[in-house]
Amino acid sequence: MTARHLQALAQQHGTPLVLIDHDVLRGNYASFKKHLPKVQAYFAVKANAEPAIVRTFYQAGASFDVASLPEFMLVYENIKHLPAKAQQDFIWDKIIYANPTKPKATLQALDQYKPLVTYDNAEEIRKIKAWAPHAGVVLRLRVPNTGSQCELSSKFGCDPGEAVDLILAAFQTGLVVEGLSFHVGSQCTNFENFVQALNVAAAVMKEAKSRGHEIKILDIGGGFPAAYDKHVRPFSELARKINAEIDRLFAPDIQIIAEPGRFLVATAATSVASVIGKAMRDGKPCYFIDDSVYHTFSGIIFDHCQYHLKAFRRGPKRISAVFGQTCDGLDIISQSEELPDLAIDDLVYAENIGAYSNASATWFNGFPPAKVVHVNV
Ligand SMILES: *Cc1c(COP(=O)(O)O)cnc(C)c1O
Repeated sequence: MTARHLQALAQQHGTPLVLIDHDVLRGNYASFKKHLPKVQAYFAVKANAEPAIVRTFYQAGASFDVASLPEFMLVYENIKHLPAKAQQDFIWDKIIYANPTKPKATLQALDQYKPLVTYDNAEEIRKIKAWAPHAGVVLRLRVPNTGSQCELSSKFGCDPGEAVDLILAAFQTGLVVEGLSFHVGSQCTNFENFVQALNVAAAVMKEAKSRGHEIKILDIGGGFPAAYDKHVRPFSELARKINAEIDRLFAPDIQIIAEPGRFLVATAATSVASVIGKAMRDGKPCYFIDDSVYHTFSGIIFDHCQYHLKAFRRGPKRISAVFGQTCDGLDIISQSEELPDLAIDDLVYAENIGAYSNASATWFNGFPPAKVVHVNV
């Protein structure tokens, strides 16, 4: 989106604003498919749960990774009325419930859809058997998350050494283990994590097969890095590694799925905010804006993500601080941004803010989340 376009939309809608460009969403999905043609992308809804995003990805051919009952229903309600190719197999083809731990009530509510759900421990097998006996199951493995922006391996995934026992245990109760899954950590710029994870999964599959159980689905999870800056190596390079390992390690008829979240949405959004206050502290210009780390910039806290603020105004730049609107000392958006001398009501914007941003915004301090506007839908 051009500066003129951003300013016009801020004029029209007011600030704070999150602008989501659906041409970029479609472009990111196309790029994923181009480089990983054998992999079906299940968009991880938690990265940005806007219904319009779900509809755009569905129309582009994507499936969905959900991690709560409300997310499951959000996807289901937004895609069930659209022309589905085959209504019958539609749930597994279109939705995986990839939160390994599910409340009993959620399992009970999901069972009628015969969902595909993940698990990573024996207690969960008992729960699934009792409350969602019609579910198909996918075992989540713990794999290295070295160097990823957000690590998930201390909370999720069984030790690879116990994987085959957990597969046999599920079959013994009458459940069918359809697949294996893993997650290499979010914004994974260390591509070796994927190589190692694929090798771990291949070894587990091989051993399961030798014990009489052929596993059909390999779910390579999320973690595909968004191009936040030039230090992130190109997706094509990661895809080449993944394709080579898949060809080397797995049978040609294996069904491969992935759960990209950030990669599909991060670069599609820009937030625009207004300067609402200004001060000079220790010789450093400080600006207060009408958004915060409890709102669109929540990724600074929850996602360990740093966003850069830019101004439309020209002029010599100085290192400046940018603070959020709330009355909390934690609410610091940046201590050092290169900004020109700004006035009250000037606009600032942050790019690449589509993942884990408005999705985790709160109403803290009485301030509502930013308005979300979809363009090029
Ligand atoms: C959050 C999450 C994802 C998406 O991860 P990204 O790093 O945003 O691609 C995928 N799968 C599961 C199970 C998740 O919890």
